[in-house]
Amino acid sequence: MNEIGEKLNKLKKEKNAIILAHIYQLPEIHDIADFVGDSLELSIKATQTDTDVIVFCGVHFMAETASILSPNKKVLIPDAQAGCPMADMITAEQLKNWKAEYKNPVVVAYVNTSAAIKAESDICCTSSNAVNVVKSIASGKNLRNLDILFVPDRNLGSYVQKTSGIKMNMWNGFCPTHNNFILPEYVLKIKEEHPSAEVLVHPECRPEVVSLADHVMSTGVMCRYVQKNFVKDFIIGTETGILYKLSKDNSDKNFYPVTNLAQCPNMKKITLTKVLDVLVNMKNIVSVPDDIRQKAYPPIYKMLQIASQG
Ligand code: SF4
Repeated sequence: MNEIGEKLNKLKKEKNAIILAHIYQLPEIHDIADFVGDSLELSIKATQTDTDVIVFCGVHFMAETASILSPNKKVLIPDAQAGCPMADMITAEQLKNWKAEYKNPVVVAYVNTSAAIKAESDICCTSSNAVNVVKSIASGKNLRNLDILFVPDRNLGSYVQKTSGIKMNMWNGFCPTHNNFILPEYVLKIKEEHPSAEVLVHPECRPEVVSLADHVMSTGVMCRYVQKNFVKDFIIGTETGILYKLSKDNSDKNFYPVTNLAQCPNMKKITLTKVLDVLVNMKNIVSVPDDIRQKAYPPIYKMLQIASQG
């Protein structure tokens, strides 16, 4: 363990802290984290930990969600500028205006949204449970009387609509990393190079990419799927940070990114030095105003309930 790792271990004990990291983080962050997971797994972990401090190595909306779920804990983000461009593609004002256009709107908010958007929503979802969340709205209700509004990711929305068969209205947002860099021509080229490999892609990719995949799944599900599968070669269509975890956990398997260009610059803002800095100085505390938190909590809680039902 290097010097920073040793210092972090000491500080974690002194301050009763845990370090949570998203799968898209740099390898150096994977190696010092207490838990590495996708958005849903990290949200669940944030509710389960009994530490006083959570250092959240990810982007702002993730730290905000942890703070909404655990308002009595101090949630620190190592870089206050690590935001999510997709989350910024819709404002609370825009969502209010959009809702006003419908008679019976039901808003499903991808967890990649600000607390203010969650506060205006009926239920949240992550990429791993979005289909079940939308199906839960439909169960026992006459869908013809409801207008499901899905924010902000049009790609995840169209995947959910196709998989569930439930008609939704999509906000026109997207993840620049998945939408702009993971392209069908790259998938076709790498499939030619590795014809026996299984193609796994994230539902934030464009529909043309999704239609070329063998399986569409969230990053957390991807990690579990690969471990259980006997296939040796995989083509991976998501942010390249996942490759470190996949290779570390499955040294006998081969992973080929659709493209090395798929890197989220915001996720990569978090470095070891910044993690140490926030824990030493207890700075970059992420908190949510109480009125927003009260309204944002129920949609997140409903999502977690659906996740716990499998
Ligand atoms: S990978 Fe995309 S959705 Fe995830 S934080 Fe980066 S920009 Fe946002």
